[in-house]
Amino acid sequence: MSKASPQPVSQPQAPTSDATAIASAETILKIFTVPEAPNSTLGQIEQKLSQDLAGFLRDNIVALEKPLSDIEADFNDHSIPTRPRFVSDYVDDIMHTLVAQSVHTASPSFIGHMTSALPHFVLPLSKIMVALNQNLVKIETSKAFTPLERQVLGMMHHLVYQQAPQFYAEFQHQADTALGAFCSGGTLANITALWIARNNLLKAQGEFKGVSRHGLAKALRHYGFDDIAILVSERSHYSLGKAADLLGIGRDNIISIATDCHNKVDVAQMRAKAQELQVRNIRVMAIVGVAGTTETGNIDDLTALATLAKELHCHFHVDAAWGGATLLSSQYRHLLRGIELADSVTIDAHKQMYVPMGAGMVLFKDPTACSAIVHHAEYILRKGSKDLGSQTLEGSRPGMALQVHACLQIIGQQGYEILINRSINNARAFAEKIANHPDFELTSAPELCLLTYRYVPALVKHALAHAKIHNDDASLEQLNSLLDDLCQHMQKTQREMGKSFVSRTRIPLASFTQAKSALRKSVVFRVVLANPLTTLDILDAVLIEQAHIAANELDIMPQLLALSQRTIAANSCSK
Ligand SMILES: *Cc1c(COP(=O)(O)O)cnc(C)c1O
Repeated sequence: MSKASPQPVSQPQAPTSDATAIASAETILKIFTVPEAPNSTLGQIEQKLSQDLAGFLRDNIVALEKPLSDIEADFNDHSIPTRPRFVSDYVDDIMHTLVAQSVHTASPSFIGHMTSALPHFVLPLSKIMVALNQNLVKIETSKAFTPLERQVLGMMHHLVYQQAPQFYAEFQHQADTALGAFCSGGTLANITALWIARNNLLKAQGEFKGVSRHGLAKALRHYGFDDIAILVSERSHYSLGKAADLLGIGRDNIISIATDCHNKVDVAQMRAKAQELQVRNIRVMAIVGVAGTTETGNIDDLTALATLAKELHCHFHVDAAWGGATLLSSQYRHLLRGIELADSVTIDAHKQMYVPMGAGMVLFKDPTACSAIVHHAEYILRKGSKDLGSQTLEGSRPGMALQVHACLQIIGQQGYEILINRSINNARAFAEKIANHPDFELTSAPELCLLTYRYVPALVKHALAHAKIHNDDASLEQLNSLLDDLCQHMQKTQREMGKSFVSRTRIPLASFTQAKSALRKSVVFRVVLANPLTTLDILDAVLIEQAHIAANELDIMPQLLALSQRTIAANSCSK
């Protein structure tokens, strides 16, 4: 805690003055008794905690400079404490060892990740979720939370598919159908979508009881396929690989298709691949389009992918985990056109919808789609019941949908419109700034509010251009390799300095001669504008800090500049 340093509050109920006490039934049962806030000890602790957290959240740094190994020392004990501790005492400790050493993801200069700042009303609302501790697996442990979650799914379904009011009147609360599935995040949402696709393709037929009962080996034999595959963009999220692994399809059967120069999947290549697979008797189970890729934030041509899926009679899934929230902006919604043609769509509320982590959703165009994965257990999940547990991968599940519900009501479509447009407009302005900067290179323009760039001093840009014109692949490789090292060094140094944070990734760049550009991946900075309080001035300061780090770098920079001079000289006089 850099500013607000926590003070332990007095402990009027403390049975002894020791920091630990021997457990007694009385003291242990007491922790389950509703305290009389705000004057109870716990009430005071809570007030203090809220103040300290607010202090932490107000700090505009991204992290304290403390090596992870030092932090690990605070978490070395391997034995479970024998004696109970006082809450105040524990909180005091954890503020120093944990809270103070956390990442300030809410800082406006934390611009490297998809999850960051939250609206503050979610804090008091989270108390409802924790205090009531409802379990969405079953109506009898969740009651009103179930219709609330189904309403959230209905609203999100409408955002994507825009069906008529009668459709929602019929299906929003109907047992044995679902407009979607709520889950902990995009990974689970993608797994659920592909699970449905697999079970629908390899469904029961005659003697064969379906892949869900007989497994993949018998399913392939029954249907006479040599194998099944999923076609995706090479920029798709690694959660699809996990899904293929878990579903028995195999990671190698997730077939990556190259992207074009705008980082969108090449649909013609995907079609050609599908035809090749058909010849080899490999059935395409699903194609996946990405609406907002993790690395560059681009959106595939969803309409063209929908057409291809139709031709192939396969499931069409859109992974809009990050980009899906753009549908809330009437100005930019059109960027996702074609999403309404998808059989299923993943959207993470915990990314661009500013909901705390643990809020993912998959939406189904067809409300009966979930029947492919429905399971009933007589003792708990009976047919015809409205228990959500029969339609979800997870079992016990918290009432996180409340936070999505709250954000949709409190921020509203108009509020989201402001937030989303602002992020996209800021990203575009920042990209322009980078593109016009003599010492930076914009490596992918923002389609939404995600962009990548790298530091390339003017002299190096000049050398790259010379080498490219003269097909000097050796120099291009050497220059880019030094630029990779530099970018990595700069990103790490900036993070360690703790004032701002951008992430980094590796993507293929056009700064190579044609043949090699698709093969070589370069290190780039990655910026995701997720905090509404990030201003252009803050973004400017990030660039200034980066240029400063580069100017003080005494190993890679001199090599890079010397090599640039040699490259320019060699490619000017010869040829
Ligand atoms: C974040 C993301 C995921 C994974 O979602 P989690 O919530 O991290 O499980 C999947 N796909 C895309 C495109 C994402 O951006």
